Amino acid sequence: MALKYSNKINKIRTFALALIFVGFAIMYLGLLFKDIVWLMLIAMVLGMGAIALSTVVYFWIGMLSTKAVPIECPSCGKHTKMLGRVDACMHCDQPLTMDPSLEGKEFDESYNSKKKQKEAPEQ
Ligand SMILES: [Zn+2]
Repeated sequence: MALKYSNKINKIRTFALALIFVGFAIMYLGLLFKDIVWLMLIAMVLGMGAIALSTVVYFWIGMLSTKAVPIECPSCGKHTKMLGRVDACMHCDQPLTMDPSLEGKEFDESYNSKKKQKEAPEQ
């Protein structure tokens, strides 16, 4: 399959990490403009806001991890956690599904959305 999917928890973790870097970058920019006090203050507040947001995202990952299902990847044999009906292995990006009716079908992240679940036939 040409399309690459990555594990959701990993994706959110990457996002939270990126937010921390963005926050520090904004604060650093603020220091460059320390002669313009209001600009520096805005940059500091924005930077701290981004870092605070990343903390929130990290808490959110923690909450999600408790709901995630730990499984052994059939492809690489390592332990991974998956969220929703379809997800990818954390280690090898192997698409995985919780739903036997989706087995063998093309991996599609839209299976996680509510709309698609209604369209799927009831069992
Ligand atoms: Zn794997």
